[in-house]
Amino acid sequence: MANTDTQTRPAVLILLGPPGAGKGTQARMLQQDFGLVQLSTGDLLRAAVKAGTEAGQRAKAVMEAGGLVSDDIVLAILRDRMAEPDTARGVILDGFPRTPGQAEALDALLAEQGASVSAAISLEVEDAAMVERVAGRYTCARCGEGYHDRFKTPAVAGVCDACGSTEFTRRADDNAETVKARLEAYHAQTAPLIDHYDGLGVLKRVDAMGDITTIAADLKAIVREVSAQ
Ligand code: ADP
Ligand code: ADP
Ligand code: ZN
Repeated sequence: MANTDTQTRPAVLILLGPPGAGKGTQARMLQQDFGLVQLSTGDLLRAAVKAGTEAGQRAKAVMEAGGLVSDDIVLAILRDRMAEPDTARGVILDGFPRTPGQAEALDALLAEQGASVSAAISLEVEDAAMVERVAGRYTCARCGEGYHDRFKTPAVAGVCDACGSTEFTRRADDNAETVKARLEAYHAQTAPLIDHYDGLGVLKRVDAMGDITTIAADLKAIVREVSAQ
């Protein structure tokens, strides 16, 4: 199947998985290791809410309730980001697509550019673990490095390993009640995408119940494999 065309095409990787599966943590590591660009629709939406844009104002209440923001808002935000030149190096889509409509729109957008999804990696985890992962999550306010109260603590307490900042933030939607709604949205609207990508022959399943470094090694192997194709 390999030909000159696909060798020169930038990788388009999708990380699929419920809230707390480790998509952001792993995407950030892949960005560093392979020079790919992490593209998180959650981060883009939170930035829009903070900036008070029209899209942000429309998305805010839905995000707080743990529902999914409408496809038209998310797709507009994604298209704008994909039009920026840095994405030509290859992208890791973290938290997108999340509905069949988004998956179809992505396939169409990539087809326009003569590209396609290189791999859709499903991070497979048990629902029971998600509440604890999400409830303990916090993030460096300056550089965005992710941490966890128990599973990923900075080397020096209260100081970001990556940038030295001492300021951290917690997401308003990372509470037990909202996580339940987010898990439901995942099972109802996002999990069906696993079959979509299986049908396209690009699905990779990864056990995401293990520790962060083991999962990172599994993902690295997948990225090397699809990059060599
Ligand atoms: P997602 O982007 O899928 O919602 P994150 O990458 O933000 O998930 O991870 C959720 C929380 O769980 C973070 O606090 C992160 O530090 C922690 N975490 C990520 N991967 C693991 C893992 N394999 N084991 C334990 N904790 C993890
Ligand atoms: P998680 O840690 O749950 O994977 P994200 O940061 O990816 O969190 O997303 C946070 C919230 O932003 C979601 O609960 C949802 O409301 C909204 N969101 C993010 N990405 C999408 C998307 N692709 N489609 C619809 N809503 C989205
Ligand atoms: Zn930092």
